[in-house]
Amino acid sequence: MSGLLSIGRSGPVPPDPSPPAGERALPPGLDTYRIETWGCQMNEHDSEKMAGLLRSFGLSPAATPRTADIVLLNTCSVREKAAEKVFTRLGQLREIKDRRPHMVIGVCGCVAQQEQEHIFERAPWVDLVLGPRVLATLPDLIRASRERRRVLGVFDPRDTLIPEFDAVERVSRTRGYVTVMEGCNKTCTFCIVPTTRGREAYRAPGSILSEIAECVEDGLPEVQILGQNVNAWRSGDWDFARLLSAAARVAGLARLRFTTSHPLHFTDDIIDAMADHETICRFLHLPMQSGSDDVLRRMKRGYTSARYRDRIDRARAKMPGLALATDIIVGFPGETEADFQATLAIIEDIRFDSIYSFIYSPRPGTLAADFPDDVDAEVKKERLHRLQRTQDVIQQERNARWVDRIVQVLVEGPSARGGGQLCGRTSQNHPVNFDGGPDLVGRIVTVAITASHAHSLKGVLAGPLTQGGPPHIDRSESTGSTGLHATGAAP
Ligand code: SAM
Repeated sequence: MSGLLSIGRSGPVPPDPSPPAGERALPPGLDTYRIETWGCQMNEHDSEKMAGLLRSFGLSPAATPRTADIVLLNTCSVREKAAEKVFTRLGQLREIKDRRPHMVIGVCGCVAQQEQEHIFERAPWVDLVLGPRVLATLPDLIRASRERRRVLGVFDPRDTLIPEFDAVERVSRTRGYVTVMEGCNKTCTFCIVPTTRGREAYRAPGSILSEIAECVEDGLPEVQILGQNVNAWRSGDWDFARLLSAAARVAGLARLRFTTSHPLHFTDDIIDAMADHETICRFLHLPMQSGSDDVLRRMKRGYTSARYRDRIDRARAKMPGLALATDIIVGFPGETEADFQATLAIIEDIRFDSIYSFIYSPRPGTLAADFPDDVDAEVKKERLHRLQRTQDVIQQERNARWVDRIVQVLVEGPSARGGGQLCGRTSQNHPVNFDGGPDLVGRIVTVAITASHAHSLKGVLAGPLTQGGPPHIDRSESTGSTGLHATGAAP
């Protein structure tokens, strides 16, 4: 394709993305940006890193794409629907670009890595395509796109790049995301992540712990440690259990979460580290995918339902107040009604606090894409519906157990339900809505639960603010809009 410049493929990532004054500045006329994000927390955080980079070059966030000089779509390709939505959105952006030709449109993240130059074929008005591990090259790509149009920045999935970012534009006033590893070495037959995010690479413990301390200094009470396969993290003689314990002891940190764990790496040491530190939230997201051993084997998950069950039993025995979430795929190739019944049975037996459920979506290049997709589309939908109905009943019952109890809630902001209420989360990750003023945002407060729903709890402030939380810093005036916009629900 003419005018296509490829940079970043197997190339080194600049160690320090902050701009020296002068010649490395971005081209004139590019003053504002907007980043729209699909998918998981890893993507949300990647958007924060790109926003931080653009801010360090003096750009400011734009309220709408119509006023943005740079629009970046940070994409997800885990399921086909999410990947296709990107092209619908690109069609809308084309109309804006027709009126504002100087605008830079970029496709970043997993669809970028997966589709590469094919994106330019389908949407020639796109200026740059940037894969997830080479985000630090964004300024170079923007500059190159002014000179050459259509620039590709992707990486070789075998590379173990793990760039450090000095400037991160964090969206949340209460939770700081901290990347500990990139990529995934698993070979699950349904999953595209190893292709789009590459082989595992781990950050050094010192860098991770410093970033957590910086989050605390910035007034963030909670840190969420991120990795596609987070509990596979290791570095020298450190394993994930040791990292968790060290992170939980960072002075001033009120809450620590981590996502996403793989059942194979969910060791007794991790359970002990969680149990030993109150700072580590009593919440575990452990994707199971299926309750059928046959399906798990064909998914190449590396565990049986009994082994999964054993991990849950051990964790619950050590932490009786632990809340559990899981991921389930229905309609995997060859899934019989008996396989699906096995999934329903384990869901009823374990009684998760929440589940993320998906219809199987064949992904290009994965092993399962070549399996005969023999489950009828209507059967898949019906199974998803049955699974969700079963879980709704369980969730109503589990949430009802919180009524009349006193909980500690980290206040995140206004409730999505409106009505002037606030919303925060318990250590178990339950959203709690209650009346309160905006001054409480960022604080941990004591709430008496008065009612429960399938997906949230309701309560009233009960007594004084919890002591011992981090210093409260009012960040409401300091950052304003971040130019970051979530476009999809994250599992
Ligand atoms: N790394 C985690 C693991 O495998 O344990 C999960 C990461 S993935 C981004 C989030 C969830 O998306 C998976 O747990 C799985 O349930 C779902 N998912 C992944 N590939 C899928 C596919 N091809 N079709 C439907 N759901 C899929």
